[in-house]
Amino acid sequence: MSVSQSILESYLAQRPESIRYYDRACRAMAGGVGHDLRHLEPVPLYIKHGKAGRKWDVDNNEYVDFLLGNGALLMGHAPPDIVKAIAEALRSGTHFGNDHPLHIEWAERVQQLIPSAERVRFVNSGTEATQLALRIARAFSGRSRILRFEGHFHGWHDGVIHGFQPPFDADGSRGVPLSVREQMVMIPDNDLNLLDDTLAGDPDIAAAILEPSGASWGRVPLTAGFLEGLREITSRHDVLLIFDEVVTGFRFSPGGAQGLYGVTPDISCLAKVLAGGMPGGAVVGRQDIMALFDMTGDSHHDRHQRVTHQGTFNGAPLSAAAGIALLKQVATGQPIERANAMSRLLHECWEEVLDRHAIAGYVYGPCSTFHVYFETDQERVKGASRRKDLETTDPLLLKGMPPELITRYQQHLRYRGVDLMSSTGGVLSAAHTREDILQATEAFEQTVLALLDEERILRI
Ligand code: PMP
Repeated sequence: MSVSQSILESYLAQRPESIRYYDRACRAMAGGVGHDLRHLEPVPLYIKHGKAGRKWDVDNNEYVDFLLGNGALLMGHAPPDIVKAIAEALRSGTHFGNDHPLHIEWAERVQQLIPSAERVRFVNSGTEATQLALRIARAFSGRSRILRFEGHFHGWHDGVIHGFQPPFDADGSRGVPLSVREQMVMIPDNDLNLLDDTLAGDPDIAAAILEPSGASWGRVPLTAGFLEGLREITSRHDVLLIFDEVVTGFRFSPGGAQGLYGVTPDISCLAKVLAGGMPGGAVVGRQDIMALFDMTGDSHHDRHQRVTHQGTFNGAPLSAAAGIALLKQVATGQPIERANAMSRLLHECWEEVLDRHAIAGYVYGPCSTFHVYFETDQERVKGASRRKDLETTDPLLLKGMPPELITRYQQHLRYRGVDLMSSTGGVLSAAHTREDILQATEAFEQTVLALLDEERILRI
C-alpha cells in the first residue's frame, strides 16, 4: 500500500461517525453537502463545536481552523461577548419582520467605519449584496453592462458565476441564460490600458466590480497602483466603481480594503465579518446613489422611479446584535492587529519550512490572509536561482495549480489537524495563538515533505 493510501485509510479509520453522517447526508441532501466547497474526499468534515482558533469534529478530531466560517470569524469561534450579545437579543425574539433599534445601531457603526458608506442597506449574504449592488448601479447609470475581472469571485448568482476559475471564458454553471452572461464584460485585471480602452469602447457599461484584494481574497494579487488607476479611469468614464469587500471588509482594516489602500469606491458590498458570525450582508454607498431606495411617496410611481428591495430577514435582530458587538471591537483596531500579527508569524514559519527544504514555492497574502504557491513547471524552476524568482501575479499560474496537488495538499493538512479556507490558503483570527501557529507549521512541514515524496512539488 502506498503512503497516500495508508493516510486516507487511517483518516477514515479515525472518522466512523463522520462516515455515518455522510451516508445519511447523501440520502437526504442534494449533492451530499450544503456548499460545493464543503465536499471533501474521502469524507466531509462534520463539526461539533469550535472555540477560538480550533474546532472539533463529531469523531473528536481537533483542527487548527483557518477556514473560520469562510472568513466570517475575525474573533475566532464562539467569542464570549458576541455569544452574550446574541443570547441577550434572543430573549426578545428572533425575528419581527419590522425594523428594530439594533438594526439602526448596526448601520451607524458600519457608516462610521467604511469610507464609502454614506448610506447602508442590509441583505443576508455576500451573494445578495453583489446582486443588489449591480441593480442599483444599473438603475443609477441607466446602463446595463457590468465590467468584471477574470478570476474575481462575487458569489453564486447568475450575473457573476462565470469566469472566476480558469478557463475564465468557460461557463461557471449550467442553468445560466446566455442573455445574462452577455451583460458581463470580462477582462484580466492589472492592465490599466486595457481597462481604459474597454470603457472607452463600450458606452453601455454601468459599473466595474472587483475584489480589492485581488481575485479570491488575494490569491491573485493586484499590482501596485492598479486600484488608484481603476478609480481614476472609472471616474473619467463616468462608470461606477464597486468594491466587493465581502472578505476584506473589517478584516483588512476597520475600514476594509478601501480604508487600508485609501481608494474609495462608489458602492461597496459587505458580508462575513460584518455580521459577527451570523448570516448577514450589506450594500453601502454614496448618498446620491443610495437615494434610489428612497420612497417617492407615490406607490404606483415608486416601482418606476426607484430600486425595489425586500427580504424577510434583512437586518435580522440576532445578526444585528452580533454585528454590533463585533464592530465595537473592530473599531478599536486591536482584533485586526492581533490577527495580522498571527498571520505574520504563520508567514514567517511556513516560509522558513519552504526555505529549509528548498521548495519551489512561496507564502504570500496581505493582512490576516495567507496563500501558498507551489511551482510545478520544471522549466520555470530551472530558470530560477532563488524562490523569490518564481513570484508571479499571473492568474493562470496562481489559480491554475494542478487540482490534484491542491486536493492532496488539503488532505495532508487536514489529516494532520489543519483546515483551510480554499485552495492553498486560509485566514487568521484575533483568537489564534502562537501555539496554534506552531502546531500548524509542524503539519505544514509534514505536508510539504509528503508532497515532495509523492513528486507533486519541486525543489529549486
Ligand atoms: N464575494 C466574495 C469576495 C466572496 O468571497 C464571497 C464568498 N466567499 C461572496 C462574495 C459571496 O458571499 P456569500 O457566500 O455570503 O454569498
